[in-house]
Amino acid sequence: MPTCEDCDHYWRPSELGEGGTCPTCDQALDTTPPKTPWHFKLLILSATIYLGWRAVQGIAWVIHRI
Ligand SMILES: [Zn+2]
Repeated sequence: MPTCEDCDHYWRPSELGEGGTCPTCDQALDTTPPKTPWHFKLLILSATIYLGWRAVQGIAWVIHRI
């Protein structure tokens, strides 16, 4: 969501002026959506793989206990 730091206001994309400017002070605002950093995706992926592996280990442990 684009924010004008001067006005301290969040604007909906439909409320912005021409070319993505602040309707109050005409300052050009950053309208690009924030991207997920690659290392965050890597963290989620590795956590998913790790938890999946732990789940497999847990199931195997339970099977061997019976
Ligand atoms: Zn503004």
